[in-house]
Amino acid sequence: MPELSVVAPAYNEAELIEAFVQRTHAALKSTGKSFEIIVVDDGSHDTTFLKLAELREQFPELKAIRLSRNFGQEAAVHAGLCHATGQAVIVCDADLQDPPELIPELVSRWQAGARVVVARRRRRGESLPRRLATGLFHWLFRRFSSVDDAPDAGLFCLVDRTVAQILRGMGEYHRYFRGLRAYAGFERAEVWYDRPEREGRPRQSLAKLLKLAGDALFSFSYAPLRLALILGSIISLLCIGYAAFLFVVRLLGLWVVPGFTTVAVAILFLGGLQLVALGIIGEYVGRIYEEVKGRPIYIVSQTLGFESQDR
Ligand code: UDP
Ligand code: MG
Repeated sequence: MPELSVVAPAYNEAELIEAFVQRTHAALKSTGKSFEIIVVDDGSHDTTFLKLAELREQFPELKAIRLSRNFGQEAAVHAGLCHATGQAVIVCDADLQDPPELIPELVSRWQAGARVVVARRRRRGESLPRRLATGLFHWLFRRFSSVDDAPDAGLFCLVDRTVAQILRGMGEYHRYFRGLRAYAGFERAEVWYDRPEREGRPRQSLAKLLKLAGDALFSFSYAPLRLALILGSIISLLCIGYAAFLFVVRLLGLWVVPGFTTVAVAILFLGGLQLVALGIIGEYVGRIYEEVKGRPIYIVSQTLGFESQDR
């Protein structure tokens, strides 16, 4: 069994995958430890998997898993983690935005005793709208979730095998790796790096990022439910006060309300509020349904380099 495993999800990364494998291989070699590189092809529509098969001739430490369709980055990472056998597992993107040259530093911090080594970004190589959106998300997540994760830490990290085992055991369907990693705890070390810009269009589309943000917030926080409760309570109190006011005014015969406006506004506002609250509850119920079904998080269609399982 190798000492180090690298797990990298790849979706339509045919152009970059060769450079990724080369640079990762060189970085791992320089640590002087035995290693494996597991690239999970997340149902790519291009030649990523073919490229991986070719590269295996040159790099015997390379292993590849092909998922039966596009399951998303989180599922792909989980698939890789489930197949990794190293004493330490390094998780990174395959698009070279997580520079492989940082791996020796991660490893040395692990050897110094940390069981989780997180790479934090000094500079994010993303466009301004993407940075703003992720900034808002991280603020919400830190403010309202039950775990604490550095806002500038991404997927890129090293986890000891004990932590990897714990992460594998967390079989939830809606996954947020950073949250799960923070939830697991353990001694933590940090390494800083400048994140380069990626070549080509991001594979993680805005829709996918939004879904991830939803998964993260709803699976690590009850704040939305509480928000519905608090808003509902405040509005109810205000309404009781207003009703009392109307009652007194009426009794004293001061002012007979001709009002249609008040009624219409109140009904519309409360109706809207109820729908919001229902929607929030629905979001959790949907997620519970999804978890209860217990469908697999990923489905493997082919593997290369895992002798017994290869097909
Ligand atoms: N990725 C994936 N499945 C997807 C989308 C992305 O495995 O459905 C991979 C992608 O190939 C890359 C990593 O996840 O290696 C991060 O994707 P990207 O660079 O698009 O996103 P960002 O760097 O903004 O997180
Ligand atoms: Mg990227």
